[in-house]
Amino acid sequence: MDVLKNMIRDIPDFPKPGILFKDITPLLANPQGMRLAIQTMAEPFRKMAINHVVGIESRGFMFGPALALELGAGFVPVRKPGKLPFRTNSVSYELEYGVDQLEIHQDAVRHPDRVLIVDDVIATGGTAKATGQLVRELGAELVGFAFLIELSFLKGREKLGNDLVHASLIY
Ligand code: AMP
Repeated sequence: MDVLKNMIRDIPDFPKPGILFKDITPLLANPQGMRLAIQTMAEPFRKMAINHVVGIESRGFMFGPALALELGAGFVPVRKPGKLPFRTNSVSYELEYGVDQLEIHQDAVRHPDRVLIVDDVIATGGTAKATGQLVRELGAELVGFAFLIELSFLKGREKLGNDLVHASLIY
């Protein structure tokens, strides 16, 4: 996995002081890197009959469609408020300062769909947990979460309880 880690650039103090930002753009630009990233993210879910990969705006959109193709599934976007044109369900979740919201189309997934949620990074896990709530509220089965990067010192995995959490690279 060192080959993937070498394609991720650390940017100190972005977007604000104290954050070490994991910049995935060198990996996105590298065809072998992208292929390896998608393959390692897909691996545990290949035999899990996933119907829909749900990507979280915005960097979940950079891996979600490729992961969906790899798993023979469709892609569903979860977006920031006001971006989706059809009827939506929304969820609010806590940030370090304040609250944020995410939305999904009401007809995007349903029982008995089997859903995999994807994002580039799991940090505190709040964003992923809120997305899990959206998927379950629509009656679909949440099979698990796939991330390229886990920042394990922030313990986001604990916030996701007993759900299956896979990360290709752990820091
Ligand atoms: P969280 O809800 O705390 O797990 O934050 C996850 C979201 O924030 C993901 O969509 C990530 O893309 C982004 N994020 C959080 N921390 C970082 C970081 N250090 N580097 C890059 N992205 C991050």
